Amino acid sequence: MSHALFRPPAEAYSLILRIADGCPWNRCGFCGMYKEVLYRLHPEAEIEQTIAKAARMQPRTKRIFLADGDVMALSVERLRALLETLNARFPRLARVNLYANGHSILRKSPEQLEALRALKLNTLYMGLESGNEAVLRQAQKRETAEEMIAAGKRAQAAGLKMSVMVLTGLGGQSASTEHAVATAEALNRMQPKLLSALRVIPIPGTALYQAEQAGAFRQLTEVQAVEELKALIEKLELESTVFRANHSSNILPLEGRFPKDKSQLLETLAALLASGRLDASSPGPPPLSL
Ligand code: SF4
Repeated sequence: MSHALFRPPAEAYSLILRIADGCPWNRCGFCGMYKEVLYRLHPEAEIEQTIAKAARMQPRTKRIFLADGDVMALSVERLRALLETLNARFPRLARVNLYANGHSILRKSPEQLEALRALKLNTLYMGLESGNEAVLRQAQKRETAEEMIAAGKRAQAAGLKMSVMVLTGLGGQSASTEHAVATAEALNRMQPKLLSALRVIPIPGTALYQAEQAGAFRQLTEVQAVEELKALIEKLELESTVFRANHSSNILPLEGRFPKDKSQLLETLAALLASGRLDASSPGPPPLSL
């Protein structure tokens, strides 16, 4: 049976082509996306068939998203061949986007990334999650913050667009401030073009959920989650970034552009904190969908 398909909200109108199942890392303690899925890169012939069928049905496609997780983990030769096929099959193709982990980006040289960019690879969605090394280790993220900053900078220098995700609340109640400050610092150094803030929700079956059940991880209350997001935004010095915190996990949907909307975002969060509507003793009800 086919497993659930995940794609970033911004890819809602893209043609999604699944060329692999699952995530080659699949160990992040907060992530339940592919827990039950054994990683498998589809054989070349199968990928060819998938592309040929999609090209017959949607020949005017301009945007493609390649799934599942971390397609950037493919070798540069495989990625180049794949992009060449997509360019040949879809004459109107403008951009190909995918999930990319820092480790997989850093395995490509600046020149190789430029070559992929020339073949219309466009946006890399990378989960930074936190800029705090201790929080990342606890979360069993593969990369250090330093590696992900280096990966983001290398990709953007090659002309690729970085869409970076961070997880508010990942440090729990014990490391909220350190998490917010270090995450802002990492983002300031990376200067991603797109930034999404999601709120961490312990999902059954994950290590984070087990830690919460055992009392080793304390999820932020609603008030603390908004305070942490406000602390993060206060420290952001982004020169040209589209910011979104409108995922269903967030308490209040927010979006804006840095630097021009920073004050407005902070005022909105301050007003929410002053409203007395937030739960100061619990994380509140979980979102209906994640
Ligand atoms: S967060 Fe990303 S890298 Fe980590 S296990 Fe989930 S899909 Fe894989």
